[in-house]
Amino acid sequence: MPNSILADRMKLIQPSPTLAIAGKAAEMKAAGIDVISLSTGEPDFDTPDFVKDAAKAALDKGQTKYTAVSGTPELRKAVAGKFKRENGLDYALNEIIVSSGAKHVLFNALMATVNEGDEVIIPAPYWVSYPDMVQFFGGRPVTVQCGEAQGFKLTAKQLEEAITPHTKWLILNSPSNPTGAAYTKTELEALAKVLKKHEHVWIMSDDIYEHLVYDGFEYFTIAQVAPELKNRTLTVNGVSKAYAMTGWRMGYAGGPAELIKAMDVVQSQSTSNASSISQAATVAALNGDQSFLKKWRDSFTARRDLVVKTLNAIPGLSCATPEGAFYVFPSCAELLNKDIPTDTAFCAWLLEEAKVAAVPGEAFGLPGYFRISYATSEAVLTEACKRIAEACGKLKQATNRKTA
Ligand code: PLP
Repeated sequence: MPNSILADRMKLIQPSPTLAIAGKAAEMKAAGIDVISLSTGEPDFDTPDFVKDAAKAALDKGQTKYTAVSGTPELRKAVAGKFKRENGLDYALNEIIVSSGAKHVLFNALMATVNEGDEVIIPAPYWVSYPDMVQFFGGRPVTVQCGEAQGFKLTAKQLEEAITPHTKWLILNSPSNPTGAAYTKTELEALAKVLKKHEHVWIMSDDIYEHLVYDGFEYFTIAQVAPELKNRTLTVNGVSKAYAMTGWRMGYAGGPAELIKAMDVVQSQSTSNASSISQAATVAALNGDQSFLKKWRDSFTARRDLVVKTLNAIPGLSCATPEGAFYVFPSCAELLNKDIPTDTAFCAWLLEEAKVAAVPGEAFGLPGYFRISYATSEAVLTEACKRIAEACGKLKQATNRKTA
C-alpha cells in the first residue's frame, strides 16, 4: 500500500455535515423514496428577473474575461453604496473585496490572519464551517455555549471570560444559522463595550442573513453600533440568501485596507476573481429595486409561524420563535431515550421513520436540538410537520411503554 497522499491538515477538518445530510436525502429521493429535505440552507425562490437580465446583458456585452482580483470597480462601488445606505458604514474601494461566496470571504480572511495557536471565539450554536476553517489554519476554536435560555446569543460576561491574550477573532453571526437568533442594538453595544477594552481582538461579523428579519426587528451590524471597532472589524455579507443567488457564488466584505489587501493576495494565488457574470448580476442586485424583499420576508414570516406553531403542538418538542434567517432550532431533548440517545440518532431516525431530513444540533455545537430550514413552500412544510408529528407520537408512545 502506498503512503496516503493526504496532507496532515486534512485530519483537522470534516466534510460539512449539512451538505452530507442534504446529499443523503438526495440519494434517497433518487432511489424513489418520498423524502422531504428540510436540511438545506437556501431559499426556494428564484433569482429575481432583473438580476438574471443583468447577467444576460453582461454575457452579450462580452464581460466574460478576468476582472480585478478583488472585484470590478462597478461592483465594489455597488458594495460601498450598500454598506453606506443600509448600514451607515463608509468603506473606500480598497477596503472592499468580492469573493466566490461569503464562505470564501471567511476562508480567505482566516487564512490571511490565523497563526498556529491563535484563538477564535465562536458562540455555539454556530454555523458548521467556522470551527473547521479555524482549525484548518492551525487556530483554536474557542466555543462558548449560548443556550436557549439566553436566546442562543453570546452575553458580554461570556465574551469577557472567553478573551485571552491569544484571542485573534470573535465571530458573530446575526441572524444566526442555525437558530435564527439576531442581536439587538443594545446586545451588540454590550459586546462592543467589552471589545473596546481588548484592542487585540478583531471581529468577523457574518451578516449574510441581514435582510431576513421578521416582526419589524431592526437590524444592526457591530461596526455600525460601535464605530470605534470598525478598524478591527470585517463586515461580511453576500447575495446568496437575500437574493436567492446561492449558485452564483458571490460574497463580499468591508474591512481595513491592510486586511483586505492580504485577502486579495490569498485570492490572487487561488481562485483569482469571482465569476465576472455573477459580479455583473450582483451590481444589479445591490443597486436595483429591493421591493421583492418585503414579499419574501412576509412569506418567510408565515412559514416560520406555521412551523413554530406546529412543532410546539407536538408533545416532546419545543421550539423558540427566531428573529430571522430561515431556520428554527427546536429541542428534541425530551424525546431522547436509550434507543435514540442523541439528536444525531434522532435525525437519522426521523429520516428513516418520517422521511424528513433535518440537521442534528451536535453539528452546530449544541446537542439536544435539531435544525429545520423552512425555506420551502407552506404545503411542503405542512406535510413535513405532519410526518414529524406522527413519528414523534410513535416515539413518545414507545418511550412511555418502556418506562411504564
Ligand atoms: N455564513 C453563514 C452563517 C451561512 O449560513 C452561509 C451559508 O449557508 C454562509 C456564510 C455562506 O454563504 P455563501 O453562499 O455566500 O458562501
